[in-house]
Amino acid sequence: MALSSARNALSLGAWQKQSFRFLLQETKTFVTCVELVTSRGVITERSGRRVMELARALAQHPGIHALSITDNPGGNAMISSDILGTDLISRGQDVIIHLSCKDWNRNALQSRGWQLASAGFNNVLAMSGDYPTDGYRGLATGVFDIDSVALLRMFSDMNAGIAPAHDQGSAHRMEPTHLFLGAVVNNHKRYEREVMPQYFKLAKKIECGAQFIINQIGYDSRKQDELLKYMAFRGFDLPVIANVFVLGATAARYFHSGKIPGCVVTDDLLALSEKQAKSPDKGKRFFLELAAKQCAIAKGLGFRGVYLGGHLKYPDYEQILQLAAGFGERDWKEFAKEIRFGLPDEFYFFEPDPETGLSSTEINRAYLCSKTPEAQEELKRSVPLSYKINRAVHDTVFEEGTTGFAIGKKISETAERSGQGMQRMLHGIEHAIKIVTFDCRDCGDCSLPDIAYLCPESQCAKNQRNGPCGGTRQGKCEVGEKECIWALAYERLKAYGEEGKMLERPVVVKDGKLRGTSAWANAFLKKDHHSKN
Ligand code: SF4
Repeated sequence: MALSSARNALSLGAWQKQSFRFLLQETKTFVTCVELVTSRGVITERSGRRVMELARALAQHPGIHALSITDNPGGNAMISSDILGTDLISRGQDVIIHLSCKDWNRNALQSRGWQLASAGFNNVLAMSGDYPTDGYRGLATGVFDIDSVALLRMFSDMNAGIAPAHDQGSAHRMEPTHLFLGAVVNNHKRYEREVMPQYFKLAKKIECGAQFIINQIGYDSRKQDELLKYMAFRGFDLPVIANVFVLGATAARYFHSGKIPGCVVTDDLLALSEKQAKSPDKGKRFFLELAAKQCAIAKGLGFRGVYLGGHLKYPDYEQILQLAAGFGERDWKEFAKEIRFGLPDEFYFFEPDPETGLSSTEINRAYLCSKTPEAQEELKRSVPLSYKINRAVHDTVFEEGTTGFAIGKKISETAERSGQGMQRMLHGIEHAIKIVTFDCRDCGDCSLPDIAYLCPESQCAKNQRNGPCGGTRQGKCEVGEKECIWALAYERLKAYGEEGKMLERPVVVKDGKLRGTSAWANAFLKKDHHSKN
């Protein structure tokens, strides 16, 4: 059944498909992407053959424009995306290759970029990635040498033909790659301290070269609408693709339990899914129709396409596309009122539009009130005293131009001239202080002033230095139960009216060669990322 439908489409074969980039940049086509989750084991395993067969069938469908291939999703080892990808591009099907930072360091990622560009891949979706959840004979160690923002910056440099660091200074320029770079935004978050940093990080990703955006799974039309309105408000003009994950009762339970970082199914949506799952077809028709309605909403709102995910068979995709095509032009407005599964007390940047139930363009009034000087004074009362002290110390000692900085510089220069003994002693004192105050891990390239004096090495499982990953659950880190450092940093900075600037700095790329050296001396002697930037 599945393949016979595909065969019908053979007359409009994959060879006639236009590239994903062309469709987004040169046409007004509403694109359809399908996510392919790679399998475990060699491709000849049953599961591998099943995914390959599905991928080949989808490649024959004229209405499916790009196939997007995951990179060890859920933090598990899966077969490399290139196995499916190479087969698909040889059939004329454009693919999007996911690249995450959890299993690769910057060199491996750069090497991957050159390999993909050389092998004829055109599109890369850059992400930090889920924290590893399993591995051979125990849990794998997450790499997180760089994050999604730095990855985008590095690939943008490669697209510009900028030579890697060790070649810089020579006149040599590299042959540019031509990778079409995508990024993810996790906009379906509950609290202001999660939503706003996600929006700031989106801006950072765009600044670092993202050319298209795909958002994270969510079932709230108002938040979908808000994303586009926020982008327009910030003057961002690039294509955004709406994520439509086709639920079933099992997936709904899984998302509801919070086991997939960043994916939210509310109590109400879970109850509805459970109810539908009791129907004779186990809710199949309902869930496909729900997805088709989400596609219609995405089109109505102004997204440039949809990104279909889920455990589906070929006819399911066909059915979703047929259902979506069969809706009336204005039906999406009613669907948008139906699909409003926000979390209780969920934060929205804009006020609701009372008529549509979607987003207006008026900024949230309560949010604006929380930013007044009086409200900031109130917020300052809950900021830890240690933070206030750290700010004062930074401003008097580590700000260039201050007397403190001049003294620190002099001491560091003297220590450097005097050799190892004095350097070791000063570094020892610094480290002892910073272990007690910040749980410092001695990286030597300190990001404390960037993250409101919270250490990403010791308190962020993914060492995120350019904004939060997408994995928070109700403000808590996806790994363990502590608050996300970026949510905490947002609240500290907001008390001083500085939260909006939390990522307004050049991209931070930690220099590994500074590990085990004095971060203070590196700051005074301009060896760390602050001065390099
Ligand atoms: S602390 Fe925040 S940014 Fe770091 S891994 Fe946890 S959720 Fe992600």
